[in-house]
Amino acid sequence: MNAAQLLEFLVSTPSVSGNEDTIATSLSGILSSEGFRIQREGDSIWFTLGNNARPHLLLLSHLDTVPPCKGWNSDPFKAHIDDSKIIGLGANDAKGSVAAMIMAAHEIQHRDFVGSITFAFVADEERGGEGIRAIKPKLGHIDAAVVGEPTGLQICTAQRGLLILRCTAHGKASHAAHAHLGDNAIHKAARDISRLAVMEFETHEDLGATRAEVTQITGGLSRNQVPDRCEFFVDLRTTANLDHATVANEIDSALESDVAVHSHRYEPVATNASEVVVRAALEAANASAGIGSVTTSDWAFLKGIPAIKVGPGDTNRSHRPNEYLLFSELEKGAAFYSRFIHVYFRMAAKEVVHV
Ligand SMILES: [Zn+2]
Repeated sequence: MNAAQLLEFLVSTPSVSGNEDTIATSLSGILSSEGFRIQREGDSIWFTLGNNARPHLLLLSHLDTVPPCKGWNSDPFKAHIDDSKIIGLGANDAKGSVAAMIMAAHEIQHRDFVGSITFAFVADEERGGEGIRAIKPKLGHIDAAVVGEPTGLQICTAQRGLLILRCTAHGKASHAAHAHLGDNAIHKAARDISRLAVMEFETHEDLGATRAEVTQITGGLSRNQVPDRCEFFVDLRTTANLDHATVANEIDSALESDVAVHSHRYEPVATNASEVVVRAALEAANASAGIGSVTTSDWAFLKGIPAIKVGPGDTNRSHRPNEYLLFSELEKGAAFYSRFIHVYFRMAAKEVVHV
């Protein structure tokens, strides 16, 4: 299969998160027939090329998609080809990256290189990262990772994390006519929300400021009662210079409400420009500097491993109707991953001498 045929096949195989069995099984079948030794855990699959030596490079992307939204002009679960592009759910996020990585795997399948590469295509990226979290312990030591997501082949070296806090303001109920007997929890929450709106956190050099955004609020039982409880959620898109526990504590001590961590597992990540994986990717992309990314991905679960996020397509087309990938983008993506692998192992080989 060439890259276009492979992408057409992937897009025409529905794989909304939680329903990846079919795509994992059929892609495993194709890859096995092409000589790759497939391993599988749940609906995530992977294979390793090379002699199991270090450095061990991981190329990772995801098989699942979000459910289709409204506004599609064609069947989202069927690849619709027009002259220059392939339209369908997941074409851009992230089946284009999967297809391009597989093309790169073909290219190096029968070559000699010092080290090893694992190609992993996982389930559940869009829903919580269950796929990568389940297979990561089985992959052994990883020296560097590339996460395939649509970045327009720009090298993303920093990615925001996500911290969600659940805040509860407690008060005392009373009849609204006897408000002096109560303690209004909504008023307390309102004071806290005003505090959050002006809170500042240390700025990140590529990604800038982190803000505390209140996204949901509930409180009050009836129109004539002083409420004794008000709950609100705070969404913080964090950067790698901030620690989730420290930020949560800082907010806790600034608010009258009780603060609980609702979700903290999407860690912010960043990779230093001096790392081989960054230098190799910049050379392969003929670029001078990396960029920061505001959208989270499975990279969040690879904290501690020097990693980048790069792939064909445009993040603005993801999770939207008529998602597409240009054939030219797919070709460039495959060429980029191949070039990157060569440069990475060349640079890593030189690096070992200095260690
Ligand atoms: Zn994605």
